Amino acid sequence: MSNSENCIFCKIVKGEIPASVIFEDDQCMAFMDIFPVSKGHCLLIPKEHYVNMMDVDLDVLAHLSKKLAELTRKVHKVLRPDGILNSVANGKGAGQEVPHLHFHIIPRNVGDPFGFRFPPDYRESMAPREELDSLAEKFRSA
Ligand code: AMP
Ligand code: ZN
Repeated sequence: MSNSENCIFCKIVKGEIPASVIFEDDQCMAFMDIFPVSKGHCLLIPKEHYVNMMDVDLDVLAHLSKKLAELTRKVHKVLRPDGILNSVANGKGAGQEVPHLHFHIIPRNVGDPFGFRFPPDYRESMAPREELDSLAEKFRSA
């Protein structure tokens, strides 16, 4: 489901379903997440339907980046959490459920009983240098 017809965030943009809007302009909109993982969890989206980072227009993304920083600072100013997680999931494998690009702004505090965690043993062995160099080269030339 990646068209704008039955997209829940497009419906929010069109005012067809309710949202607690923080701000909006011609290109983007920020609103409160309806299932907050912490108090103050909100979302920033482009008004146009893009699925995620793979297809978003780069000028729109540049605008979103600026607005993401502004919103993160506002949330920090109001709630003063220990930290704020900005995240974006690109595709199902990354945990994306709503197929309309969105940035999460999630206030976090030390000791929160939840969070994105790397596997406990991931630092036991470093990756072989040849493998890192090879991937770096592939990404460079892509
Ligand atoms: P993701 O798993 O990254 O796709 O995140 C989708 C987010 O959208 C989740 O945090 C949901 O709680 C949130 N969400 C889904 N429907 C709505 C809605 N109608 N209004 C606000 N937030 C929503
Ligand atoms: Zn959409």
